Amino acid sequence: MRKPQFAVIGLGRFGSSVARALAREGYEVLAIDANAQRVQELSETVTHAVAADATDEEALRSLGLRNFDVVVVAIGQDIQASILASLILKDMGVPKLVAKAQSELHGKVLHKIGVDQVIYPERDMGQRLAHQLISPNVIDYLELSPEHSVVEMRASGRMAGRMLRELDIRARFGCNVMAIRSGNAMNVTPRADDRIAEGDVLVVVGRNEDLQEMERFFSE
Ligand code: ATP
Repeated sequence: MRKPQFAVIGLGRFGSSVARALAREGYEVLAIDANAQRVQELSETVTHAVAADATDEEALRSLGLRNFDVVVVAIGQDIQASILASLILKDMGVPKLVAKAQSELHGKVLHKIGVDQVIYPERDMGQRLAHQLISPNVIDYLELSPEHSVVEMRASGRMAGRMLRELDIRARFGCNVMAIRSGNAMNVTPRADDRIAEGDVLVVVGRNEDLQEMERFFSE
């Protein structure tokens, strides 16, 4: 299968980090910024780095952006430029358009234009940190809906040595243990008689309130 090709427009801290990570993973990346110095900084790292104004339709056409599988618009401060560039790219028929939003309102406009995925890096990182501060045993989480998440939870001392059946997580908290990670081994079909060891990580799905209650219960 052909590897997807990516274009990243706006090489601030966020955009350049996306471009670098994709290039590091061996993907073809076209990096674009209006600022020649930003372009220069990435020229050795990505496949192509080009200075261009993303609000210039002709410029975007001549770069052949519609042929890229995914285009990321990572312009934040200049909301007008972000919206214009997204509109042009959507009109050009880019298969998947991802754009970074600076605020909820900015994000709403991007959605209305038809941007396929709107991301809020600062808001999401802030929420992530808050979750970690509230629940120190939670390593990471994925929001499924405003009320439901999947969390990666470090097994507490109260869990260690006990079988899933004994922990009774489903009946007690209404949450479901989807997987148990022990070192590098991943058990994705956990059974009632599987025993939790110290240092294991549980992947649990449930309502946010129930997950928090469960985390509090086992960390006490
Ligand atoms: P970050 O938080 O990722 O550092 P930011 O949200 O502060 O970024 P900006 O600094 O506003 O975002 O923009 C990121 C980059 O987008 C900058 O390098 C800027 O030169 C570039 N940029 C802004 N407008 C355009 C445009 N019309 N065409 C191309 N690049 C642009």
